Amino acid sequence: MARPAPAIVILGNGSLATARRIQQRYPDALIHGLAERVVGADRTYHEFGATLRELYQQDTPIIALCAAGIVIRTLAPLLLEKGAEPPVLAVAEDGSAVVPLLGGLGGVNVMAREIAATLDVSAAITTSGELRFGTCLLNPPSGYALGDLELGKRFVSDLLAGESVRIEGPAPWLAEAQLPEDQQARLAIHVGHAERQANANELLIYPRSVVVAVTAGTPDLANIIRAALHGAGIALQSLACLLADERDMADVALRDAGLDLAVPLRFSARPGSVLEQAQSAVSAPLKAIEIGADMAVAVAAAPVDPLLIGRPRGRLAVIGLGPGAADLMVPAVKAELARANDVLGYETYVRMAGPFRADQVLHCTDNREEMQRARHAFELAAQGRCVVVVSSGDPGVFAMAAAVLEALHESRDPAWHNVDLEILPGVSASLATAAQAGAPLGHDFCVLSLSDNLKPWEIIEKRLDLAAQADLAMAFYNPISRSRPWQLGRALEIVAQHRVPETPVVLGRDVGRPGQTLRVTTLGQLTPDQVDMRTMVLIGSSTTRVFPRLQGVSWVYTPRSYGDKLVDIS
Ligand code: SAH
Repeated sequence: MARPAPAIVILGNGSLATARRIQQRYPDALIHGLAERVVGADRTYHEFGATLRELYQQDTPIIALCAAGIVIRTLAPLLLEKGAEPPVLAVAEDGSAVVPLLGGLGGVNVMAREIAATLDVSAAITTSGELRFGTCLLNPPSGYALGDLELGKRFVSDLLAGESVRIEGPAPWLAEAQLPEDQQARLAIHVGHAERQANANELLIYPRSVVVAVTAGTPDLANIIRAALHGAGIALQSLACLLADERDMADVALRDAGLDLAVPLRFSARPGSVLEQAQSAVSAPLKAIEIGADMAVAVAAAPVDPLLIGRPRGRLAVIGLGPGAADLMVPAVKAELARANDVLGYETYVRMAGPFRADQVLHCTDNREEMQRARHAFELAAQGRCVVVVSSGDPGVFAMAAAVLEALHESRDPAWHNVDLEILPGVSASLATAAQAGAPLGHDFCVLSLSDNLKPWEIIEKRLDLAAQADLAMAFYNPISRSRPWQLGRALEIVAQHRVPETPVVLGRDVGRPGQTLRVTTLGQLTPDQVDMRTMVLIGSSTTRVFPRLQGVSWVYTPRSYGDKLVDIS
């Protein structure tokens, strides 16, 4: 998967100017500023260490405007773990020094040079091979894969010790490097797609020039492909992508094979046989081989760009942003927003989900056009795009997930059913509000929308009556609006028939958003004018209790057990 855009991390306002200069070099990079210290960052964070480690684990290149030592200490616990190693750089606050720290194979020195050029200083490059040859031999450009890292390191140290080298095969990017070339040299850089025994005298670099066309439904497909390539004498590292028929987009075996082999999965209309499909993906193939009726391999003369072959399976994620605060958004949702091509939703929520990169397309619509938005999302995803539909809180709670599923259920378009659809949860307003007040929903509770826009009011009355009778704590979404002025008052009357006036009530307004408020009151004192459409209303059960805390509103909780309390629910 492509690496995310860099994160520029700053601790104080003094670094903002330098951060902005670096951002000019990487327009997709976001500036992450420490909350309360930095005004005007693209994102805010609260904990430097946790933020830096999370970025690192998500393989995000990090440009930290602070002392190198702080960055080293912060990331040290992660360094022994296998996994992501994105470029990590420390840059002096005033832009006077650029120090590449980690990610030598991820292009950190290239970034260091780019940033240094932007800041008009020189980068503190310490990698010998890079200094001597002007390129990192172990980090070939995209479209090429290194054979073996450990052997490669030995190879480079032999070169550094003064040996010369032969170049076999087309390696256009090495033309610029200052390599001690000699046709008689013992050491060779070998570029080619053929499977080759690793040996210490050779640095093997594979062009990603091989496309494998496959049919769906074969279990253990990845191993079958490995064996087929081996049988044909083709290196697995040269595999650029898998190609399948577009009718098989939703096939799980295909998806698993792509993941297992770590190559993109592309789809096109199969012209006839798999052999023809493989051939048509590669212009002027060097060779094309049929392996049974289910698989064919085509080899191009140069690396192929999988993005130009067929199209990917489209993806549609319906995500919940949580109540608003960035730190209440689940990491899977953040990752989904980062990979999105298109973002759809009510404008307020789309803005809440940002900032976005210039290449991401935003489709802001009115809150009421849910079905239309859902269909639009499928149309985009069916073209192979990566689409996100945003809801606040949780997408399955009075929000977009149900509309998206309804649109799919109604559709007979196979392209819609082939979309990779996923619903990603968020912290719903009732839960965010409850947490701030304590645990008012700590026992059985129910969730109701008081809006009668999409259901008859009689149903709402009946549910309120039964839920109140059943002694459930209650969370009211959409409690009131200008077009629904009297409904909340009526709802409270119904509840009051079953609950005493002292029943605790929690009102959370704009929870997790700027200007949030939290109030604890009672059913007897609650009047509709204390509530608006940005408010969450939580009504306690007969066992819900309140006690003061040292600061702020009282704690409210509903005990886990009824104890010996007798309740009349007749
Ligand atoms: N999917 C959302 C709910 C959408 S319905 C969720 O899971 O939270 C909209 C209603 O949710 C609003 O009328 C209000 O009652 C409540 N709500 C949403 N966000 C809120 C917030 N940040 N603070 C308080 N109430 C909120």
